[in-house]
Amino acid sequence: MTKYVYDFAEGGRDMKDLLGGKGANLAEMTNLGLPVPPGFTITTQACQAYLDSGTVPAELAEEVSGHLEVLEVRMGKRLGDAVDPLLVSVRSGAKFSMPGMMDTVLNIGLNDESVAGLTKQSGSARFAWDSYRRLVQMFGKTVLGVDGEQFEHALDEAKKAKGAKTDLELDEHDLQALVAQFQQIVQDSTGAPFPQEPRAQMDLATEAVFDSWNGDRAKLYRRQERIPADLGTAVNVCSMVFGNIGMDSGTGVAFTRDPGSGAQGVYGDYLQNAQGEDVVAGVRNTLPLEDLEGLDKASYDALLAIMATLEGHYLDLCDIEFTIERGKLWMLQTRVGKRTAGAAFRIATQLVDEGLIDMDEALQRVTGAQLVRLMFPAFAAADEQDDDRVLLGKGMGASPGAAVGKAVFDSETAVAWAARGEDVVLVRRETTPDDLSGMIAAQGILTSRGGKTSHAAVVARGMGKTCVCGAEDLAVDLVERTITAPDGTVVREGDVLSIDGTSGVVYLGEVAVRPSPAVEYFEGSLAAEDGDDLVQAIHRVIGHADAARRLGVRANADTQEDAERSRRFGAEGIGLCRTEHMFLGDRRQLVEDLVLAQGGDEQAAALDALLPLQREDFSGILRAMDGLPVTVRLLDPPLHEFLPDIVELSVELAVAEERGETPDAKRVVLHEAVHRLHESNPMIGLRGVRLGLVIPGLFGMQVRALAQAAKELLDAGLDPRPEVMVPLVGAVQELEVVREEAEQILADVGVQALIGTMIEVPRAALTSGQIAESADFFSFGTNDLTQMSWGFSRDDVEASFFARYLDLGIFGVSPFETLDRDGVGRLVRLAVEEGRKAKPELKVGVCGEHGGDPESVHFFHEVGLNYVSCSPFRVPVARLEAGRAALGPA
Ligand code: PEP
Ligand code: MG
Repeated sequence: MTKYVYDFAEGGRDMKDLLGGKGANLAEMTNLGLPVPPGFTITTQACQAYLDSGTVPAELAEEVSGHLEVLEVRMGKRLGDAVDPLLVSVRSGAKFSMPGMMDTVLNIGLNDESVAGLTKQSGSARFAWDSYRRLVQMFGKTVLGVDGEQFEHALDEAKKAKGAKTDLELDEHDLQALVAQFQQIVQDSTGAPFPQEPRAQMDLATEAVFDSWNGDRAKLYRRQERIPADLGTAVNVCSMVFGNIGMDSGTGVAFTRDPGSGAQGVYGDYLQNAQGEDVVAGVRNTLPLEDLEGLDKASYDALLAIMATLEGHYLDLCDIEFTIERGKLWMLQTRVGKRTAGAAFRIATQLVDEGLIDMDEALQRVTGAQLVRLMFPAFAAADEQDDDRVLLGKGMGASPGAAVGKAVFDSETAVAWAARGEDVVLVRRETTPDDLSGMIAAQGILTSRGGKTSHAAVVARGMGKTCVCGAEDLAVDLVERTITAPDGTVVREGDVLSIDGTSGVVYLGEVAVRPSPAVEYFEGSLAAEDGDDLVQAIHRVIGHADAARRLGVRANADTQEDAERSRRFGAEGIGLCRTEHMFLGDRRQLVEDLVLAQGGDEQAAALDALLPLQREDFSGILRAMDGLPVTVRLLDPPLHEFLPDIVELSVELAVAEERGETPDAKRVVLHEAVHRLHESNPMIGLRGVRLGLVIPGLFGMQVRALAQAAKELLDAGLDPRPEVMVPLVGAVQELEVVREEAEQILADVGVQALIGTMIEVPRAALTSGQIAESADFFSFGTNDLTQMSWGFSRDDVEASFFARYLDLGIFGVSPFETLDRDGVGRLVRLAVEEGRKAKPELKVGVCGEHGGDPESVHFFHEVGLNYVSCSPFRVPVARLEAGRAALGPA
């Protein structure tokens, strides 16, 4: 029989699949002997069974009863007892922490009778009624689906009536009246009274947690974070401890290190006489955690000791939720904490220096996605830059970065404006999980309330979005859609804001940005030893990745500047030098001449004119990559890309005719040619190797230009390493024809070069054994291979229907972004195997966009490629991920 319920003492941190992250860590803390209120966890398997069948598994109720009984005996109280009630919290907890999941419901077990018992036991009627009104409010909103605004409104009205600023000024009578009002709201909204039966409250809350797995917000978050949809969530039932029982009680959140910078110290927020949700929701302003020392030294010392224990145990930054009940400290949660990208690198190397982990482990603790974030620019200092910035105010720098965009005041507007291509900054008083879509759409988030652990701050850090929170001096009016600064400046929706997630400063207007130190380091303009601790951490980690990785990393570059830059970024050659841009601009005319050439002489003349220009192009690139391979791909795109637009040309001629003018003879011939070459599906038309076979001399000219450029450099004592790559091959015969001509030319010029092919047509992958006979290397063109495997156009479909596909979960991420392992990946695997079987020394790489995508890099490592090739900016990311891949799964 499946066991669906585990006591906290039965689990451990390795059981996240079953107990969820929260449950596994509560168990771990329990077994470490830390003060965790007793409780139990209902497993993710129970949730999966519920989601599959629509009902809770039959055995669950009995198992829960058994564990509840044990808990009641242990606590010496019965759930919801009228005289001395045991109260519990019900909290969701999936394997991965998900902001979209159901909020915690506290104080379950309270009802019209047990509230009196709680009053007697605690000696405080105010406390008892405050706890009850919280239950009705939280339960009403999260379990029964009542609009939470109604409760907020009633609470605000009660405060107003009393002239109270905070909820603390409401007394027991006010709270009792609020409970009645809240119960009426529940009755009116749901048509049924607030459930009085304690066990029914618990079971309803459990089911609501299960249901929240499939809530819109959770689904959106899972897609964003690529979390599988079938994991399900666990449910934690925990005996209540109370932070709202008086001023000697409270609740807080802490980090063992600064999640923004990685610096060691005391970081967190504390709120007296409050329950957990008050801290995160930012309803009252919190105290810095240091202030707890003055309020309750014993608890503060105990907390610091526990934080040290946790760091020593988890060997990582932990975040913590705690409650103090009348001077007794309780641990409610811990986990390895989310952190900013910069902190991830700093902490990883700090832990190495503290002797807690080794460099392999440090490398596994950072990701390519984090490195990407560090390569974004930041705001230039005011004295470095002349821009039209106006200082508006300052909040807390909650998630670093520099964001510039138009102010918007709700999520819907953020999404709508972003969809039409505008950069926006989402401005809210505080955020809730409902704001998730707006937060995703925005460049940055600004809130006027809440601390470093508010919802906005935590979620933004997780997403790597710039966030400034708690900018209290900015008055945000969501109805008028304005921000009013202390000096009276009014910002309206659509005005541009610049927010600095590091310093917390908010500017009106667009502020200039300066390059990231990480980029300066990779560029070589900033030496590692001159950089700050972050640059030094990156230097150490990337150095370790380079030593560990087996995959080579090359760049896709087709200009000398890009080649130089990618070499500075650590590229070990060029894996794809596209040549099409070399035929644009002024040279378009020469391509036209080539297409229009009547007979061999005219064609030869056009090619002769192109040859020296191409030679120059290649010379610069080979020079920049001296001693490293440069893979030059012969011309690939459909010819029409170089010719005038058919419609424009037709109109031009028709207008001339209309005016009785004699049209230019050359334009008429060109028009005929464009007509002749017009294709309905150019992407699967006359392009790639087909072009080379149809236009005699074209590929030959390119090979000659490359060979001559290499020869000149060789003669000058350099070490050029050209490679010739043929695009869009689908049959070995195509390659054979091109190869024969290329070999002849190379021999004529007296240069050696590998000759290989792209594998980007499914047939090429399927016949790779044959193709390998004629190829020195393969390079997977995964852009075309994805397009042709799925049969959808890479230029059109992302905008046209991917959003719908993502909504439907057909794929979690665009296959043009992360390689589709099951489909396209299968072709890649097969082609590597059969190609190498035919020719063991075959070199194999990839040059599609996937070459710089972290997840795809791991796949290419697994299937045994020799190298990945990606855009210059992605080279450091590919180096890092190739190193991580070599260490095996993290
Ligand atoms: C590819 O198809 O993956 C490729 C690298 O070539 P292009 O993107 O130029 O078609
Ligand atoms: Mg291609």
